[in-house]
Amino acid sequence: MTGPLAFIDLAEQRRQISAEIDAAIATVLDHGKYIMGPEVARLEAELCDFTGAAHTITCASGTDALVLALLAHGVGPGDAVIVPTFTFASTAEAVALLGATPVFADNEPVGFNVDPASIEAALVVAVAAGLRPVGIIPVDLFGLPADYPAIAEIARAHGLWMIADAAQSLGGATPEGRVGTLAEVTTTSFFPAKPLGCYGDGGAVFCQDEAFGAMVRSLRVHGQGSDKYDNVRIGINGRIDTLQAAILLVKLGIFTRETERRQVVARRYGELLDGVVVTPTVPDRSVSAWAQYTILVANRDEVAAQLREVGVPTAVYYPRPLHRQTAYRKFPTAQSMDASERAADEVLSLPMHPYLSATDQERVAEALCGAIADRARL
Ligand SMILES: *Cc1c(COP(=O)(O)O)cnc(C)c1O
Repeated sequence: MTGPLAFIDLAEQRRQISAEIDAAIATVLDHGKYIMGPEVARLEAELCDFTGAAHTITCASGTDALVLALLAHGVGPGDAVIVPTFTFASTAEAVALLGATPVFADNEPVGFNVDPASIEAALVVAVAAGLRPVGIIPVDLFGLPADYPAIAEIARAHGLWMIADAAQSLGGATPEGRVGTLAEVTTTSFFPAKPLGCYGDGGAVFCQDEAFGAMVRSLRVHGQGSDKYDNVRIGINGRIDTLQAAILLVKLGIFTRETERRQVVARRYGELLDGVVVTPTVPDRSVSAWAQYTILVANRDEVAAQLREVGVPTAVYYPRPLHRQTAYRKFPTAQSMDASERAADEVLSLPMHPYLSATDQERVAEALCGAIADRARL
């Protein structure tokens, strides 16, 4: 047997586009416009074409994208924003950073996205706590778009805005459209391990409304007004580097092909692991960006350890829901958080990237079947 597999293989992609990447970087070094160079506007135009969003505002990270979107909505103390508990910290962190209160909702009994019924329950809790609910941030966990039609109905009924945290789902879609257009405002991340990653930090806000887009653009550069030296609101320094924009332009060129390859990899895992573990499902006519391929398995930590021994890396996203983490324990939650707690105990993400071969997937499946059989014998 050969050496350990890669969990996410960025080296293979690098080999495929190295000449183009080197040329793109050289171009930026030659023109010298390191901040807001021409590649930034070009990337924003191409991301509008790719997603179908009316406006794209790139920024320094997926976290900054959330902060910018929340700032543009004027979120502050006394406001409650409903967020899933089973997500990366940024989703709730951005809310808390602005002095508002994240109120945690549980995820669906089957699947890892937020449960619309739990959003309703969290709203009741928020109001009872004397907070003013203003918005909902659904997360497209592991690449699968959340149930936007159901969540939008709740948002409409309560007069709330919605920000889609699509840090993991760029390239995904539902029958309603592509990720970037499924909510009035969407944020994403270009962290290297995300489906569309750069070689550092980066992110973007997508929106349909021109005035909202203009507000985010101003907030991205310290709240600047039409006169650069008259700042009209409090903002941040949230720009993406020109170098990262240039790198993303090259990677966007192969992104559709890569997303298709991820579908093939996911389908193959589904076939290999059917009946062995709980495999992820995608609703009819939806497309996951497959940021992660995450199964549910009992004795997860032992199984993961056994896989590591035979050179199969795995990861646990997430071992603790946010409402169980030190910084977030004090915030309110919906009454029942059982689904997220079960998920945290049993989730295991397998190697997933566009260049994963059938042979390597068979090796993962074989190791997994072996580990589960050994557990069963104990
Ligand atoms: C990665 C991630 C973010 C934050 O993105 P950064 O670019 O790392 O700041 C936010 N939300 C979710 C769900 C993520 O997975």
